[in-house]
Amino acid sequence: MRYALFDDWRLGVVSGDTITDITVESDWDSSDPQRSLVRTLRSAPVRPGPGARRLALSDVSLRPPVPRPTNLVAAPLNYRAHNTEMGQAKDIWSEGFFLKSPTSIIGPSEEILAPFGDRAIHHEAELGIVIGRETDRVHQESAMDHVAGFVCLLDITMRGTEERGWRKSFRTFTPIGPYLVTADEVPDPNALSIRCEVNGVERQRASTGEMICDVATLVAYVSSVFPLVPGDLIASGTPAGVGPLEPGDLVSVEIDHIGRLDMRTGTGTQDTHQNWPYSVARRTTQKLA
Ligand code: MN
Repeated sequence: MRYALFDDWRLGVVSGDTITDITVESDWDSSDPQRSLVRTLRSAPVRPGPGARRLALSDVSLRPPVPRPTNLVAAPLNYRAHNTEMGQAKDIWSEGFFLKSPTSIIGPSEEILAPFGDRAIHHEAELGIVIGRETDRVHQESAMDHVAGFVCLLDITMRGTEERGWRKSFRTFTPIGPYLVTADEVPDPNALSIRCEVNGVERQRASTGEMICDVATLVAYVSSVFPLVPGDLIASGTPAGVGPLEPGDLVSVEIDHIGRLDMRTGTGTQDTHQNWPYSVARRTTQKLA
């Protein structure tokens, strides 16, 4: 199944360029889409009723298919060629993983927005892994039983020396979508072509088979540190070719069997609300310790 959340947090299944509204058949609660999603993933697939509304995908506003996970975990340095381009001798085994704010998640109908005009933000195209069951200290051999599905994911990153969790958690910094594709539709998640384009020019191309820590190992690894809960999301790391995004860019992530996520970067910068020590206004007048 290809589940999409759309408009005022309705649930649909996608086939080709069409989305069929199954909000009613699924006993879906639009006021709590994350909880409804978890329930949907744990129950038998819902087939649309005979009178179900069918819409063109281009006529709906797509929301993030995993709106508010409890944990948004991200793998650093999980592709050797990317580690090399970053000048890193380290890898995921020496770095561990990090957490992003779940409220940095946005869907295809929103825009990525840079916090500051003078700090580069980069695209990192990644396979997103959606957890379907309680996942505590699982072994690699059974880890795939805990994976509900996959999404295309962008781990938007401000380059710099601050903690990863800070640089990667700004508002709008985790676009996902366009759908959640259930695991049964993905023959081998460790053999998927993943591509990223900016304004139609290819920036990243790799196979998920190049991951140092594959999907099952990643799930087992994270669950050895803390339990994952249904609806959690893991960003599995980015291949080589990361680069800057400018205002007005169109950045696309395409993954075999998962789909293509097209995102725009907005113009202007985020309102940081106050003149914090890290803000642009302060940094231009005051040297930080
Ligand atoms: Mn990343």
